[in-house]
Amino acid sequence: MMKILFPLFFVLLLGCAKQQVQVPQLGALSPENISFKIDYDLSPGEVVLIRFPHFYSELAGELVCQDQVLPYHKQGDDLVAFVHASYFAELKAFECFYKVGTRDIRVAQIEMIEKIFPSERLNVDMRHVSLSPKDQARVDEEQIFLNSVYKLSPPRPYFTKAFIVPLNTHITSIYGARRVFNNEKQTQHLGTDFRAMPGVPIVTANAGKVVVARELFYTGLTVTIDHGMGIFTVYGHLSKIQATEGEFVPLGAQIGLSGATGRVTGPHLHWGVRVQGHFIDGHSLVRASERAFL
Ligand SMILES: [Zn+2]
Repeated sequence: MMKILFPLFFVLLLGCAKQQVQVPQLGALSPENISFKIDYDLSPGEVVLIRFPHFYSELAGELVCQDQVLPYHKQGDDLVAFVHASYFAELKAFECFYKVGTRDIRVAQIEMIEKIFPSERLNVDMRHVSLSPKDQARVDEEQIFLNSVYKLSPPRPYFTKAFIVPLNTHITSIYGARRVFNNEKQTQHLGTDFRAMPGVPIVTANAGKVVVARELFYTGLTVTIDHGMGIFTVYGHLSKIQATEGEFVPLGAQIGLSGATGRVTGPHLHWGVRVQGHFIDGHSLVRASERAFL
């Protein structure tokens, strides 16, 4: 008797469970009857991860923040996206909308929080401050190449884990530091410098495709990885490149050795992180991605 009842019990149980699963229909799952976090804090030069329910799961919508269409990724029942503010962003709150057909669903309200960046003075080879026409032409040509590379990032991520910092050494120059070169030219340091003697193995902050593995005027021997979703990491001033343009690399893969090539005052690793068109603080990407994958 038990032999017959037991499978029957499971069939009944499965039947009950199946009834509880609701397949969302257009209009059935509206933002009004779902609660999710909508308020986020963001500072200039940072990125934040937003998460919202996968409304109307059978339809692909468009995520729009400040007139910019952003890539998003499906994770379980949710959609996640990286929303950034450039270093020069105004301290003005903004909203993000998920647009499906004629519906505009407000999925994030971003508050902008002020951040103070320090100032530093550096002395470098004058050749790297006042560029000769020949050097300027080289820089312009490299910029055209880099812009073409940055355009090709796919909307889907190549990564499935959180980003890591490429080195765990003392940071000699933080992201956003205002810099005065040789008392003349003022710029902003839109990357993080890690202390590294020449020859220290440098590893990738996440999985992706190697899109730059060559010498550039400012960053010397440089490797850039496209992680998808418009996210890139740059490793500069290397003494040796150990990656090939076009190859796919996993998280933590050795792609070169630290050095002092390009515009430098001494050996170190320059780590640049670019998100959808702007260089942002890599540490904020580490924190934001940890929220997505840990
Ligand atoms: Zn740097």
